[in-house]
Amino acid sequence: MEVTTAERTLEILRETKAIADGHFILRSGRHSGRYCQCMRALERPEYAEELGKMIADMFRGERIDVVLTPALGGILIGHEVARALGVRSVFAERKEDRMELRRGFALDPGERVLIVEDVVTTGGAVREVSAIAREAGAELVGFGFIVDRSNGEVDLGAPARALCSVTIESYEPSACPLCASGESEPVKPGSSG
Ligand SMILES: [Zn+2]
Repeated sequence: MEVTTAERTLEILRETKAIADGHFILRSGRHSGRYCQCMRALERPEYAEELGKMIADMFRGERIDVVLTPALGGILIGHEVARALGVRSVFAERKEDRMELRRGFALDPGERVLIVEDVVTTGGAVREVSAIAREAGAELVGFGFIVDRSNGEVDLGAPARALCSVTIESYEPSACPLCASGESEPVKPGSSG
């Protein structure tokens, strides 16, 4: 049976517990029945390589010259996408309140840029990074993600493609149906509970 890209991606994310179902306390303090941390998959080089290749496959034929990512979340996956496309990979990092290229990284005018990030939720970081490409006079081809958590709703002004889509509902603790059921105690993701 043919396994789709989305199915294979979710299989990797579940196997590595990058996506887990349970009863979690998110960083915001809200509770959720699902948790997503792509780094749990990317810490496995063989999966990082496979995910990178799948993102690269969505953009083959687009004549990408360089992959640009926001640090830190985009660096590992961007590097693997670049490896699969045979192009270079650069990342932007935050200095004070601004994302910029440092370490001698640069984009040339007219270069065709693919922006890559692990997860897109509101698109804040990749939108900032796309401004760097624009200011350099580079040509933004599009955006590639492992996971779309925006319900397909984020509009970045260029083609955006994700390997899979994941919905995460969250609740105020006082309104959490998992707490109300009394069947589980909420845990912080990554703890052994
Ligand atoms: Zn709860």
